[in-house]
Amino acid sequence: MSSRMPALFVGHGNPMYAITANPYAERWRKIGLDLPRPKAILCVSAHWFVRSTAVTAMEAPRTIHDFGGFPAELFAVQYEAPGSPELARRVQQLLQPVPVELDEHWGLDHGTWAPLRHVYPKADVPVVQLSLDATQPAAFHYELGQRLAPLRDEGVLIVGSGNLVHNLREYSWNDEHAAPADWALHFEHEARALMDTDKEHLLVHYQQMGRNAMLAIPTPDHYLPLLYVLGARQTGEAISYPVEGFDGGSMSMLAVRVG
Ligand code: ZN
Repeated sequence: MSSRMPALFVGHGNPMYAITANPYAERWRKIGLDLPRPKAILCVSAHWFVRSTAVTAMEAPRTIHDFGGFPAELFAVQYEAPGSPELARRVQQLLQPVPVELDEHWGLDHGTWAPLRHVYPKADVPVVQLSLDATQPAAFHYELGQRLAPLRDEGVLIVGSGNLVHNLREYSWNDEHAAPADWALHFEHEARALMDTDKEHLLVHYQQMGRNAMLAIPTPDHYLPLLYVLGARQTGEAISYPVEGFDGGSMSMLAVRVG
């Protein structure tokens, strides 16, 4: 069996999935049971979308409640996984010559802790977050994923957390079980077809994939984390989908496991 860690994209969806009983949480838990145990996790979250590439470098990252209008119970959640300054420095080294700031202020946002609370409920695996540089094109993010790939041979689980299809304007706020829109289904289908046929690199050019893609990805923040995971894929590696489903008709909860 290969000692290379898989890489994982999770569709995180509604922050409440961190604390409610829901079908996604059960499947996230199973992902954690199925994965080899990582030494550390590097998570690229949709919710750290800033104007530079930074990596959390503190020993004990705080839990960030980066949302409003949710119950106190959600604000009370603490995910007390340790950080890993060592992994932060390794990321900085691998991404050279891209300047990577060693960050002491961010922490773990809900893109990271909402799913990880289920994947690793004991919070006993060190977690480092990597920011998304909003000023850079999709190809840059895919390339960073390629440069981070050696981490997989060092026992690090690379996680991207976002949503493949994420359109809140089209979301059915009063019915999370609404049937998925045609454009949402078609785009997810198209993306899966590319991933299933070793053409996942074409997903870098999502802006040329037509109307369905434009509706699926009105802003890039929730999509780009996927490109890190796909960039870290080695030729011929298996791709599987341990979580499937749509929320509110316009949010894909698809998880993508590489390896
Ligand atoms: Zn989100």
